[in-house]
Amino acid sequence: MDPELPIVIVPPNLLQRTWLGLRERSGGQSEAACVWIGDREGQVSTTSDVLFPQDYGPVRAGALHHVSSRRAMNLLFEDLRRRGKQITADIHTHPPGYPELSEVDRAHPVEFRPGLLVMVVPDFARGAPLLSAVSAYLYVAGGRWRRLGRNETASAILVRDV
Ligand SMILES: [Zn+2]
Repeated sequence: MDPELPIVIVPPNLLQRTWLGLRERSGGQSEAACVWIGDREGQVSTTSDVLFPQDYGPVRAGALHHVSSRRAMNLLFEDLRRRGKQITADIHTHPPGYPELSEVDRAHPVEFRPGLLVMVVPDFARGAPLLSAVSAYLYVAGGRWRRLGRNETASAILVRDV
């Protein structure tokens, strides 16, 4: 059975910081990634911060790929545990013309959790921080993904202060 649609709440200033951070780290030429972290309670997640793997250690990134080192991810997860937070969404940028989740992306989400929300931000995050621009996916299970429609995306991600 497909996981229920999650509800991920994110404050507007955090959405802004996410786009600016991704844009800066993409530099208009390579993919960049981040995770939203916060508190998950059932289907509802409240996002309180954004973490960028490349701030924790080396990543290999090109126009159409982004691989964080095991070391960077271990440190990021350690930080997460120390703060007592969980991942609320997994986000990365793509170059212009590739809004879809790639095969590599599908094989390497930040965690294999049914209901994980993954977003692709187009054009290396050079556009305005609008959720209508992203491609959003839900990790189902067993390597299966479901692309969310525009309305589903709008009901799954709520931009508001908490
Ligand atoms: Zn990708």
